[in-house]
Amino acid sequence: MSGMNVSRPALEGSDRSRYRGPGIFEANFTMGLRQFFDTQKGKNVAIGVLAVGLLAAIISIWNSLRSSETEMAVNEPVFVNARTGEAKRFKLGGKIPEGFHPAEFCYWTKDGKRKDKPTPVLLNKFKDLPEPTFCPDCGRLVVALNPVPTETSKPPPTEAEWKARHPK
Ligand SMILES: [Zn+2]
Repeated sequence: MSGMNVSRPALEGSDRSRYRGPGIFEANFTMGLRQFFDTQKGKNVAIGVLAVGLLAAIISIWNSLRSSETEMAVNEPVFVNARTGEAKRFKLGGKIPEGFHPAEFCYWTKDGKRKDKPTPVLLNKFKDLPEPTFCPDCGRLVVALNPVPTETSKPPPTEAEWKARHPK
C-alpha cells in the first residue's frame, strides 16, 4: 500500500515525462505525415501530369489519323469500275486501270436522312447510259460533283420522284 503511494507520484511523474515524450513524438509523427502527404501529393501531381500528357498524345494521334484520312480522300480518290461496279482508291497522278472512273458520293438513305459513310456511285455517263444516275443504295439522284449535304439540305429526289417531275 505504502509502496503504491510512493510509486504513484513516480508513475505520475513518469506519465508526465512520457506525456512530453509523445508530444515530441507526435510532432515528429505529424511532420512525417506531412512528408507522407507531400509525397502523396507529389505522386498525385505526377499522375495528373501523366494523364494530361497521355490525353494530349491520344488527341494528337487521333487528329493525325483523322487528317491522314482526309488526306487519303483527297490524294487517293475513289474510282468505280463501270463493268464490275468495284470501288477502289487510286493515287492521283498514278495510272488508273481501264474501266475505272471517278466516283460521286451519295450521302443519303432511303428514308431521306443524311448518312456519315457515303456510298460511291458511278455516273451513268461512264456507262454510256443517257438517263440520270440513281444511287444503288438509296435510289436517289446522283449528279456530277454531287453536293455534300449541309444541315438545311433537302434529300435529292428518288427515281420515282424525279420521273414524276420530268414526264416524257
Ligand atoms: Zn444513296
